[in-house]
Amino acid sequence: MNIILLGAPGAGKGTQATRIQENYKVKHISTGDIFRYNIKQQTEIGVLAQSYIQKGQLVPDEVTCKIVEIALNEINNENFMLDGFPRNINQAQVLDKLVKIDKVIDISVDLGALTERICGRRSCTACGNLTHVSRLGGKNTCEKCGGELIQRSDDKEETVKSRLAVYSEQTAPLIEYYKAQGKLVSVNGMGTPDEVFEEVKKVLG
Ligand code: ADP
Ligand code: ZN
Repeated sequence: MNIILLGAPGAGKGTQATRIQENYKVKHISTGDIFRYNIKQQTEIGVLAQSYIQKGQLVPDEVTCKIVEIALNEINNENFMLDGFPRNINQAQVLDKLVKIDKVIDISVDLGALTERICGRRSCTACGNLTHVSRLGGKNTCEKCGGELIQRSDDKEETVKSRLAVYSEQTAPLIEYYKAQGKLVSVNGMGTPDEVFEEVKKVLG
């Protein structure tokens, strides 16, 4: 089964993606992770992507579609889960020409709650664990491994505003797009990560 994870920034796509990957046989393809890896290595794509990401804008479709095509070729015929792609109608149309998608899981959240969620988000430099300041009791170390926690540079308030605006204008219309294709399933993203995953399991069967 090939899956798309849809949802606003901060809806919990990354957290659910980890759980889905552990429980179902799907390769996780995250455009955000691919861009961050390229930024770290300062590749040509990384340098270009960084200039958009730091402003909270989408990386141009030519670049994004290309990296997804490469990633899809690399997994040769295994089932996959796309996380962070597509993010606009054009990307969805390009994707429809490349592969068959079975289910689109929309993690729906109250947009008003997102700024707080995203701005408090931290990730572990050692194990990649995602967490939130509200769970840390003032500490800045990973609950799982004790590693150092950092904030993503695009999780600062100014950038987050622009990412949420881009989501409403360009990404939210994909909900209707996939509903029309009969592929959309919605889960309520306002619970704890485990509660949301219970719902995900129900819709994935
Ligand atoms: P989030 O879902 O929390 O916004 P991601 O890690 O998915 O974070 O993406 C981080 C940034 O990478 C986005 O704000 C955007 O600038 C860029 N990006 C990721 N996926 C895409 C995409 N499909 N198209 C264009 N830009 C993208
Ligand atoms: Zn850790």
